[in-house]
Amino acid sequence: MEIEKNIYKIVLPLPFKLDSINCYLLRGEDGWDIIDTGLNYPSARDVWENFFQNGLVALNDIRAIYLTHYHPDHYGMAGWLQNLTGAPVYIHRSESSQVEQLWKKGRLNFPLVGDLFSEHGMPAAMSVEVVDNMSGILTHVQPHPILSYLNGGEEIEMGCRRFRVLHTPGHSIGHMCFFCEEEGILISGDHILPTITSNISLWPTSHPNPLELFLTSLEMTGCLPIGKVLPAHGNVFTDCAARADQLIEHHRTRLALITDMAGSGTSAYDICVKVFGDDLSLHELRFAMAETLAHLAYLESRGRVVSRRDGGIIVYKSGSLQVSRGQGGRSCP
Ligand SMILES: [Zn+2]
Ligand SMILES: [Zn+2]
Repeated sequence: MEIEKNIYKIVLPLPFKLDSINCYLLRGEDGWDIIDTGLNYPSARDVWENFFQNGLVALNDIRAIYLTHYHPDHYGMAGWLQNLTGAPVYIHRSESSQVEQLWKKGRLNFPLVGDLFSEHGMPAAMSVEVVDNMSGILTHVQPHPILSYLNGGEEIEMGCRRFRVLHTPGHSIGHMCFFCEEEGILISGDHILPTITSNISLWPTSHPNPLELFLTSLEMTGCLPIGKVLPAHGNVFTDCAARADQLIEHHRTRLALITDMAGSGTSAYDICVKVFGDDLSLHELRFAMAETLAHLAYLESRGRVVSRRDGGIIVYKSGSLQVSRGQGGRSCP
């Protein structure tokens, strides 16, 4: 579907609660560029194969493939598409270690997630189940592409437009958005989505304070002259600044809630259950726990909670430094 002149959206299925991802194809005079690729499994491959069979684009028309970040729904089919098209695959330089540690050495590193969750109070048997549940993803991110790297700040031609590469860390350490200043178009990946909040997670392999990075990136994005956002999940939307403010407020509210829940000494797991409930799938529980840890890491960095070990489990309690909600709004230069 052509959603802007020379920009096509392909919706690929995902076998999760979040059931689809938007990939974008941009048409230029001497070829096409792809942004994000989908998870590698039969239903999604069918969509790409049908697209290439309809005659609009030939495989050798593909000039380059760009990945907004390393997550499996974005990276998963990059190698498969590279093998078909011969196109280079670009990702932010700081995603390379995530690809290496998680997608190439996942069997070694996934157990670290279980260790992290256990020391934050998750029952040991449940941590083992969470880790077992992760390994299924590895078959859906292969074959691996040969990666080329961007640093953020580059001006690149995609399709027939010029885009600035924006490094927007938070949802992942090397998340990138693509901004066409001339037309006010932002291709936002998972950085800013219209109806759901992007997961902000602390993992053993992630940045130690991803929420801090995310809020800073959102403030930056909210200040840009953006007229239209093309997200990786959900529909095109227009008021980017208002959505950025909404998301910042959402996290402020949750930070205040978690500070209160920490009280005089509570584990991250107990806080996670209070915030997200105890009726989650293993997949949902993993992200709920990692999101809780990201909020606690932010709060601890600000002195709003303090942690200590109590019988092998890390517990948090509200710190002396309290910050009133709403303090420090977005200020654009
Ligand atoms: Zn993502
Ligand atoms: Zn995604």
